[in-house]
Amino acid sequence: MLLGPHFLVGAAIASNFQNPLAGFVIAFLSHFFLDRIPHWEYSIEPLKEIKTKGMGYAMPILRRVALDVLLGFIVLIIASILARRDISFIQAAVGGFFGILPDGLSMLLFLKRGKGIFASLLKIFYLFHQKAHYDKKANPPMRIGLSTQAIAILLAIYFLIF
Ligand SMILES: [Zn+2]
Repeated sequence: MLLGPHFLVGAAIASNFQNPLAGFVIAFLSHFFLDRIPHWEYSIEPLKEIKTKGMGYAMPILRRVALDVLLGFIVLIIASILARRDISFIQAAVGGFFGILPDGLSMLLFLKRGKGIFASLLKIFYLFHQKAHYDKKANPPMRIGLSTQAIAILLAIYFLIF
């Protein structure tokens, strides 16, 4: 899914847990659940060639990624201003961070040179993440692929505010 909905769902989950740690774990796990729902997303293929072709080549995508997260963050700010209950903004934002962390770890793999144990762990995690993702060959039409994310975003906003 796009990073915005991942971020908001993670934030909504974390803000509904008394125990922040449990909230962060579930926010992290929510990423894989959301990735199983057919959705539309922009291609991040150029990021995989960052090591050979350099940062400049991947810049347009990196800008898109930054905007994606920023929009999620702005919606979280607005939702927490409108919230009808006491929510910890920090706890929600950290939950959002855990919601997008699996994609962040993939990014780290694309950036990382060398073959240490950390790189191997990233690689294993990446393969698991890919496996958990719904089959990209069965991409839904764009209107469906965006609707599923709109629903995720609206539910997240609802559970942040109420
Ligand atoms: Zn993902």
